[in-house]
Amino acid sequence: MTVPSFDADRIDRDTCAALDAADPLTPFRERFTLPEGVIYLDGNSLGALPRDTAAEVQRVIAEEWGSGLIRSWNDAGWFDKPRAVGDMIAPLIGAARGEVVIGDTTSASLFQATVAAARLRPDRRVIVSERGNFPTDLYVLESVQTLLGGDSPLERRLISDDGPSLDDVLGDDVAVVVLTHVDYRTGRMYDMADVTRRVHEAGAVMVWDLCHSAGAVPVDLNGADADFAVGCTYKYLNGGPGAPSFLWAAERHHEDARPALTGWNGHARPFDFTVEYTPAPGITRFRVGTPQVLAISALEASLRVWAEVDMAQVREKSLRLTELFMALVDERLARWGIAVVTPRDPARRGSQVSLRFADGYAVMQALIDRGVIGDFRAPDLMRFGFTPLYVSHVDVWDAVAALEDILHTEVWREARFARRAAVT
Ligand SMILES: *Cc1c(COP(=O)(O)O)cnc(C)c1O
Repeated sequence: MTVPSFDADRIDRDTCAALDAADPLTPFRERFTLPEGVIYLDGNSLGALPRDTAAEVQRVIAEEWGSGLIRSWNDAGWFDKPRAVGDMIAPLIGAARGEVVIGDTTSASLFQATVAAARLRPDRRVIVSERGNFPTDLYVLESVQTLLGGDSPLERRLISDDGPSLDDVLGDDVAVVVLTHVDYRTGRMYDMADVTRRVHEAGAVMVWDLCHSAGAVPVDLNGADADFAVGCTYKYLNGGPGAPSFLWAAERHHEDARPALTGWNGHARPFDFTVEYTPAPGITRFRVGTPQVLAISALEASLRVWAEVDMAQVREKSLRLTELFMALVDERLARWGIAVVTPRDPARRGSQVSLRFADGYAVMQALIDRGVIGDFRAPDLMRFGFTPLYVSHVDVWDAVAALEDILHTEVWREARFARRAAVT
């Protein structure tokens, strides 16, 4: 893949419009409903609404629920949805059919997968993760440590950019390594195949969190020989607020895996209503209870769009958008002390760019007030997600122009932009 580079001196809004005209993904923008006057750079937190989602959910409510009633568990395939929709996610993450299942929340699925992973190494007592990981991942690991520790919790070792490194903490006592492929704060991306190989060399099991990867960058779980993975569907996959997570387990682990939560939907014969639990074969044993049919139908509508998308084109455009944004920020915003914290090396970058600025919270509120929506992560990061299906090069140009104006006029100093809401 050729990675573009931009000379910000020589680029203007017309150049951006020309890039949009030549862009093979431009037609996908019409598949989304976006409000007039909004530039949406927060699809890494909550993806935009696909145009067909409302009609599909309405159809499921009216026909499958309203008319079909309980018959729809069979007739509309409700009971098999977690696997059928998992198969729609599989090509986006380098998984095979029958390896992905829709789960509960990402937090719950991570618990489910990590317990199964740790149980594959019963005589090892260390779980490795990262200090900068998304907090819920670390909180969930605390439960895994307690659950599996016996008399005392399993040990947790956290790596970080300032040390210790992965190689510092790996050893023959490590059972599982849980890492987030693309960092939610900085957008830094791991080399999945390389990290997985090092983890396997130490004899440990690899669990990947793909929350900021699925639909953002090409992922090849089987190519990397990974063991387990989980991820969100409401971020880049546009499944809607609260859309359920997905869980992947490499086929080689299906028969030995013992997930944490053994619910009736993961039973080999759920409608035998037996007293004893017998795990279902394959990925189905990771299911827990009744699937969230309405939420899954919204996700399914979005995945029909994804089925038409070439991830190589998404990656190419994502790198173009992030390169363009960084070049314009360097050129036009550096004088206010705004710094790009996202890796410049395209191989180490996901599909977002984060900018460090002490008053980033107020600046972001002022920007949102202008219709340019990004978000803020404490203590000082402004995050901008670039979702190539509905963000254009002109959007990037206009967003940087708005940011420049806000900094120049210092409108962000107004008191109303300092107030903090519950969700940032
Ligand atoms: C968004 C995100 C989550 C969210 O977890 P939920 O249980 O869906 O709220 C978890 N982990 C990471 C790395 C995330 O980016």
